[in-house]
Amino acid sequence: MDDIPASTLTPAGFPVLVDPRRIQALLAELEASEPELTPILSPAELSRLSADFHSYSPVLGPLLKGKRAQVAVKACRVDQVLAVAGACARHRVPLTLRGAGTGNYGQCVPLAGGLVLDLTGLDRLREVDPASGVVEAEAGCLMADLDRLLEPHGRALRLAPSTCRTATLGGFVAGGSGGLGSLRWGFLRDPGHLLGLEVVTVEPVPRLLRLEAAASAPLNHAYGTNGIITALRLATTEAVAWQQLVVSFAGWEAALEAARDLPTTALLLHALCLLEAPVAAAMPWPAGCPAAGPGEHRLLLHAAPDTLEVLPPWLAERGGRICWRGPQPEGGGGRALPLWELTWNHTTLHWRAQRQDWTYLQLLLPRPEAPLLEAVRRRWGEDVLWHLEGVRHQGAPRLAALPLVRWQGEQALADLTDQCRELGAVLFNPHVITVEDGGLGVVDADQVAAKAAYDPAGLMNPGKLRGWPGRSRQPPEC
Ligand SMILES: Cc1cc2nc3c(=O)[nH]c(=O)nc-3n(C[C@H](O)[C@H](O)[C@H](O)COP(=O)(O)OP(=O)(O)OC[C@H]3O[C@@H](n4cnc5c(N)ncnc54)[C@H](O)[C@@H]3O)c2cc1C
Repeated sequence: MDDIPASTLTPAGFPVLVDPRRIQALLAELEASEPELTPILSPAELSRLSADFHSYSPVLGPLLKGKRAQVAVKACRVDQVLAVAGACARHRVPLTLRGAGTGNYGQCVPLAGGLVLDLTGLDRLREVDPASGVVEAEAGCLMADLDRLLEPHGRALRLAPSTCRTATLGGFVAGGSGGLGSLRWGFLRDPGHLLGLEVVTVEPVPRLLRLEAAASAPLNHAYGTNGIITALRLATTEAVAWQQLVVSFAGWEAALEAARDLPTTALLLHALCLLEAPVAAAMPWPAGCPAAGPGEHRLLLHAAPDTLEVLPPWLAERGGRICWRGPQPEGGGGRALPLWELTWNHTTLHWRAQRQDWTYLQLLLPRPEAPLLEAVRRRWGEDVLWHLEGVRHQGAPRLAALPLVRWQGEQALADLTDQCRELGAVLFNPHVITVEDGGLGVVDADQVAAKAAYDPAGLMNPGKLRGWPGRSRQPPEC
């Protein structure tokens, strides 16, 4: 170990790749104990299973280029997860967990080689409590599938990413933050959403633990650095037949005011997204919805059926015209484009599909929002375009922003983020790889303590928890 040059070590002090003999030993052991676990060794498959959607960031792209697991396996049962966790710990092989791999910050890109564990095979709904609506489901359940299974119980997930048709429940809790439903329910880490976890530890003799809500919190948004989540217990909400509405505005100020004021009414809304005219013009709209014309700003809403008497006149008084309305597509979408796939980071996805030299930021805007939006416009002109999302932050309605930003280099990006911070925005930086740097920048001692308890050798997703490196200066033997 001593003669490995520092440049080949990850931030966690791991060698960039594990000695192939240790991987072979691990595989031999798994083959004997779990013959159904087929190791994936093809370079193309390993590249696919080591990638996510960090390509939105021109900063992360070069940083993560070429990072690849040495082997991958797909678990379909909890006992298989236990077998893999134990083998990784005994052979000191870094372990990176993977749901659908739709994260945006390189969360499931293995920095130190080792093994990628695909959890999409763990996809069973275990229980829905008829009295409370609390659901227990396995980590690999696709979120839209889970919502469909909840429907006959009259329940629905409170929060989902706009990737809910492809993303897993475990990946959302470990790597996401909010999205659809955040207008009403805030963010995943708000107390009351995550009620418990089933977790496998990464130790020579792994443990299968059931954690209650408080003990589960440190694993929430920890990028799979401090325990393998095999099942989750979540609070749900009543199922509502949300109506999709597209509202057209000729003026930005009027659209912004409507977006600010709507969440303060008694109208039941699930999501609210405001797109500035050039962004709206670039979106692929659902069938039957007219394309946005020049200068037309668009407000996208998911509204309860009982809002439909009051909402049209309320919007008209503020200069808004409903230009399209439709029910959510049956069965989570099928081939139809759901309106939610124009919101959150899907807006970025569609914009970048034609303009790869653009990136984005994630901000919680100060109140009032207009001074910041105008100051940025004065300095950056059409190189920053506004895409806002309605959220609930610490109990109050707020607007978050995922502005589209023409890439002009790291210094320009830093200047823009400095300006936004100076004007009162909170930045959730999508151009960094650690849990802490993408959040509020501070180490969460509880996350680090959970890692010490459930991953004492520091094998899980090395390099992603900034609070840990000091503890893992004893890297695995090579
Ligand atoms: C177009 C687009 C739109 C998006 N919209 C949103 C949005 O609205 N809201 C939002 O929050 N995010 C959004 N994202 C990011 C991402 O899609 C979500 O966070 C999603 O929920 C991640 O789920 P996944 O199954 O793909 O997780 P992955 O990307 O596979 O994993 C995410 C992280 O969780 C870890 N992990 C996975 N499974 C487990 C487990 N069982 N136990 C412990 N750790 C685990 C991984 O190691 C990784 O660090 C978007 C991304 C894209 C590309």
